[in-house]
Formats: sequence, structure tokens, C-alpha cells
Amino acid sequence: MTITVRAAAKFNLHLGVGPVREDGFHPLATVYQAIGLYDDVTAGEADGWQVTLSAEDHIALAEVPTGDDNIVVRAGKALAAHHGIDRAASIEIHKGIPVAGGLAGGSADAAATLVALDRLWSLETSDEDLLAIAGRLGSDVPFALVGATAVGGGRGEIVEPVADNGAWWWVAVGNEQGLSTPAVYRAFDELVGAGVAEPQVPERLLMALEKGDAGLLAEALANDLQAPALALRPDLAQTFADGEEAGALAVQLSGSGPTVLMLCRDAAHAREVAGAMQAKAYDRVWAAPGPVAGAHVVTY
Ligand code: ATP
Repeated sequence: MTITVRAAAKFNLHLGVGPVREDGFHPLATVYQAIGLYDDVTAGEADGWQVTLSAEDHIALAEVPTGDDNIVVRAGKALAAHHGIDRAASIEIHKGIPVAGGLAGGSADAAATLVALDRLWSLETSDEDLLAIAGRLGSDVPFALVGATAVGGGRGEIVEPVADNGAWWWVAVGNEQGLSTPAVYRAFDELVGAGVAEPQVPERLLMALEKGDAGLLAEALANDLQAPALALRPDLAQTFADGEEAGALAVQLSGSGPTVLMLCRDAAHAREVAGAMQAKAYDRVWAAPGPVAGAHVVTY
């Protein structure tokens, strides 16, 4: 028997970053949205851990490990340890989420693995326990379980759903060269240092979501990692300018980048903006709706 679970990419509508803590982490106040780019994870019975990879066009797999350092193996081991069982599994990952793109693809795979193995091994882990295991794997993993639109606090691991009445459309423009998340945080520390205030989720963003108004959302998007990421990668400024010229309502870096997200009015507008970006010779362009569901079983 195999079980396939689908998990979505995340985009931070708001990413507020606070001063680095003594343990090295930065406190976050973020609003996540799950958007329609997906990885599928298929888990099957096996005596030892095995990871195999495949991907949609234009998604490079070179950086993704197939050994025990793949986050899916860490997720599987954490779930087995939680239940005190000694089991392994084969995990096939089909990636539709660009790697090292600031879209939390690895976190999506980890969340999908928890859901798949919970079902494969008939564990019936409570939601609360799954979220706790997810939070120990990485700050974006709990949100990948929950999906839709949610506020994240702490290191991102405390997730609270928020009212979102929008049927949003995004165009995601990827970049062939990844951007290291720790390097972007280091650049953030250098740029703003310890002088930065405790981050907060702005009320006007929550209002824009509740109203489902794309014009209001365009004005409320923000990402504290954008300036440091652009300092490391000045070439991305051209993608921002091209997105604006293509008619996007707003253009923002996804997480620590380098993927750039463009807010559109509706599906037809997203197709138009995506077409305009392709005409400018960008070859990693995806139109994606949001919000979409968290990790869920698609076949078993
Ligand atoms: P984040 O924004 O959470 O830092 P990201 O979207 O920028 O994530 P990911 O695609 O999650 O980046 O991958 C970051 C790194 O994690 C990769 O470069 C790779 O070395 C490692 N990794 C481990 N397991 C996976 C996985 N299943 N999928 C992708 N990357 C993985």
C-alpha cells in the first residue's frame, strides 16, 4: 500500500522580523498564505529509509538530498520516535515547489510526510501532537499542515487561522539561483541590527483579508527580509520592475527569496501578467491561487 499526500507552498503576506534572540533565532510576526504550487509525497512500506525525487519542468533537484538529511526522513523518524516504534518507509517526492525559493518546499514535504506516515502506519496521532512534532522540525512546518491563511508567531511555529474572504491570484517568478535563508538573516542583522522593534501583524492586512479586497491587500503586503535579500541579490530588482511593468497590483519577495510574488486581480489577470513575464524571457513563471488547503491525502 502507498499513500500520497499533497502539500502547498507558502507565501508570507507579511513577514515582520524582530531582533535576533540569544538562542540565535529571530522572533517573527507573519501572515502565511498557502498558494497553489504543490509537492506530492508518496509513502510506502520499506525496511530502511529511501528517498526518491522527481519534479515538474524548471525545478532543479540538485540541492535536494536523498539521504537521511532530507527533511522527510527527519520527519518520519520524529513521528516514529513520538510513538516509540522502530519503522522506516520509502518516500517519493514529486516537486512542484521550486527548491530553495523561499516557498518552504522542504517544510511542505515534511508536513506531507507526517500526514502520509500517520495514515500508512495507522497511528491516529492527534492534531496537537502532529503540530508539536512539526514545530520541532522547522518553523514553517506547522503552517504546511494547517494551510489556508494564518498568523504565525514565535519562530513561526505558533499558527492561528485568520478570516480570509479573498479568492487571490498570484504569479510566482522563480530564479535559477537559490538564496540561502541564514545568509539573508545575517544581512538583515547587518542592515537593521538590534535597533529593530518587536514585530507585529498590521491590522490593515487582516482587514484587507477579511474584506477580500485586492487593492487593500496590495497596500498591506510587507516583508522585512526583502531589503536584505535585495542587498545580497541586486539583480532581483529587475524582476520587481518587470512585474510592475507587467501590471501586477503589488510585487513582493517570498520569505527569504529569491522567488518573487506578484498580486493579480483575478485568474485572467494572473494569466496576463504571467504571459507578460514569459514574454520578457522569464522561464520560471507560475500562476497560483490562494488560499489553498494544508497537507491532505490525495490517493491511498
Ligand atoms: P525556507 O524558506 O523554509 O528556508 P526554502 O523554500 O527557501 O525554505 P527549501 O526548498 O525548503 O527552501 O529547501 C532548503 C534546503 O533544504 C535545500 O537547499 C536542501 O538542501 C534542503 N532540503 C532538505 N530536504 C528537502 C526537501 N525535501 N525539499 C527541498 N529541500 C530540502
